Amino acid sequence: MNASQYFRPTYAAAREAFRAAAAARELKVESHRNPTKGAEGEELTTDVAVLGPADARRLMIVVSGTHGAEGFCGSGIQVGWLAADHPLPADTAILFIHALNPYGFSHVRRVTEDNVDLNRNFVDHGNAKPANPGYDALHDFICPKEWTEESEQQNLAALRAYAAQHGADALETAIASGQYVDAQGVFYGGTQPTWSNRTLRAILKPFAASARQVAFIDLHTGIGPYGFGEIMSNHAARDPGHQIMRRWWGGEATYFDDGTSSSYYVVGDTQIAITQTLTNAQIAGITLEYGTIPRKEDMMNAVRADNWLYAHGDGDVHAPKGRAIKTQIRAAFYPEHDDWKEMVVERGHYVMKRMLRCLGET
Ligand SMILES: [Zn+2]
Repeated sequence: MNASQYFRPTYAAAREAFRAAAAARELKVESHRNPTKGAEGEELTTDVAVLGPADARRLMIVVSGTHGAEGFCGSGIQVGWLAADHPLPADTAILFIHALNPYGFSHVRRVTEDNVDLNRNFVDHGNAKPANPGYDALHDFICPKEWTEESEQQNLAALRAYAAQHGADALETAIASGQYVDAQGVFYGGTQPTWSNRTLRAILKPFAASARQVAFIDLHTGIGPYGFGEIMSNHAARDPGHQIMRRWWGGEATYFDDGTSSSYYVVGDTQIAITQTLTNAQIAGITLEYGTIPRKEDMMNAVRADNWLYAHGDGDVHAPKGRAIKTQIRAAFYPEHDDWKEMVVERGHYVMKRMLRCLGET
């Protein structure tokens, strides 16, 4: 297998690859048009294709690009699956959702066009939002107004001092667990369902009547060892999905509640849309999270820099400073190396095959 052939260097090229791979399987592609434009002025769409009967009782959902820039990875896994001839069990369908956040994919950002972290946006916006006092306390260091080498040294010193006092987990929670107060800040959950949130729910709705057993895979990058895909359960221990995850994956998956997951605790993730829309189904959902660069801190710093560029910088991605920041964030979410791509596709398809087999046993 030469997995590199499934990956593309831009959102526009990845979209074409997905559409071509679907067409080669004679699948119809449904496109949902985002109201904004891409980095090269191109049209932005979330593209959807279904392999197998759309009214199947068993449904596997595979999403790429929830966090825009992480879509290079997920797209490669999706395109590779469509290009291969993996068998599909009876009464089973795979729903491919390509580039759920096409703005972020095209502009190489984690966030949507309204600076929302989509995986924090699925909260009930009518209710009180989770507080994040650590973020409030550290705001000026996490999201500084100026960005120079000197200012960044001071900011990082302040953040490390916080970690030394409260623990590394507390710092991670402050920066990355999500916040609902600062629309210009990082890991912002928004005040209403954003376009990608509404689009995901609209895509899922036609499957609500027939789907009885659902496996959900949301493809991400940025945490963990290089090229390794951690199978993170999306379920809290009290969710019905937790028991299914335990049965299907046992200790091969990781869980928030027992501290085995490498992620920070997340509220408002895509899993909520699956659970709320596919109400006739038993659902097991995972975040398949691939490692990129060695240190989580560097990933977060890339996100902070990118946030500064659009919130306080001039957003000029062609000027030297902007270009350096875009190179930094791209590397944090998409290592463009053949060995990484090989590992990503092999593991991704292993997880998908196993999910299909588990679905078949229910
Ligand atoms: Zn992600």
